[in-house]
Amino acid sequence: MQTPLGKVYLVGAGPGDPGLFTLKGKTLLEHADVVVYDALVSPQILAMINPKAEQINAGKRRGRHSLVQEETTRLLIAKAQTHAIVVRLKGGDPFVFGRGGEEMEDLVNAGVPVEVVPGVTSGIAAPAYAGIPLTHRSYSSSVTFVTGHESAGKYRPEVNWRAIAQGSETIVVYMGVHNLPHIVAELQAGGLSLHTPIALVRWGTRPDQEELLGTLGTIAQQVEETGFEAPAIAVIGNVVQLHSVLAGCRPAIYPAI
Ligand code: SAH
Repeated sequence: MQTPLGKVYLVGAGPGDPGLFTLKGKTLLEHADVVVYDALVSPQILAMINPKAEQINAGKRRGRHSLVQEETTRLLIAKAQTHAIVVRLKGGDPFVFGRGGEEMEDLVNAGVPVEVVPGVTSGIAAPAYAGIPLTHRSYSSSVTFVTGHESAGKYRPEVNWRAIAQGSETIVVYMGVHNLPHIVAELQAGGLSLHTPIALVRWGTRPDQEELLGTLGTIAQQVEETGFEAPAIAVIGNVVQLHSVLAGCRPAIYPAI
């Protein structure tokens, strides 16, 4: 293979509010030759892309992960042969449940220079915008980030929910809305009370952010009744009680500050 002309930048777009996007990421978007972006990147971030750049939507469809993933990697490798700045733009942080690690490995193996630009992950930002601190000296001194949606082709160990119930005072679940009954049953089997508070935060940091508050015992039914949908972050633990105190201090979304 010829020596690539360019470099791929794996950039985290953050959770939605453009004010949470890094200066480094913004500068790269403004100078990019090609931008390959995912479904969860907010339109206000996409609006920062160099108008002359080629823009490619690599949004994944449920159930077609692996094929689309391979195509995306091939595309990045091909674009880096002929373009100087190729940005791979992902929602939140690229290395937190974003397949950024996998893409970076493939690029390195293909001899393509690559660099990561971290982003604010939704697991931190969505609870924050709902007035829920993940740690607090009176409520929690540990946090676990965990996926609620394990891919069908089991290439990694199963999530040990019971151990997490024992070992972490705050649990932040990504991609968990559809799997809540299973998650709740496992956490209960691990020793968590059904009275443990839980918050779901949908489209965190965006103008249409929605929250659903309940307990482990009630939440699955509340999701059914309200038709609450993904994408959402679930926060489980006593820190969720702070929502009632702090939710009034909701951050303004940039540029409305
Ligand atoms: N790399 C991303 C996560 C990708 S996995 C990050 O660091 O945030 C996709 C999941 O992230 C969604 O199913 C949802 O659980 C969560 N998510 C992403 N953006 C979100 C947002 N604005 N509000 C709430 N959850 C979000």
